[in-house]
Amino acid sequence: MPTCPLCGKPVYDLSTALGASREQPEPAHFDCVIDRVAASENLAAGEKLVYLGSGAFGVVQFKDKSESVFTVLRRIQWEKEGEKKDWRKGLSSRITTI
Ligand SMILES: [Zn+2]
Repeated sequence: MPTCPLCGKPVYDLSTALGASREQPEPAHFDCVIDRVAASENLAAGEKLVYLGSGAFGVVQFKDKSESVFTVLRRIQWEKEGEKKDWRKGLSSRITTI
């Protein structure tokens, strides 16, 4: 079982893991990565982080109360684009609640 380079705990669910950084392709917990992304982005009120897929996050603003429609304000390419990770079966976009 791989160990998350960001918190040092085992990564049980590789299907939701992300590369620890652009330079570190080792699997890290989704929550550990998003904490890092959030720490590096100063989110204003009403802004949220969303995993857009393909190793990219977006700082978004939701347009409705049900949080289904949003505008991407900034795109953060976290993993190198097009990089295949054999430990990942597939992680589609996922909305977080930061
Ligand atoms: Zn972790």
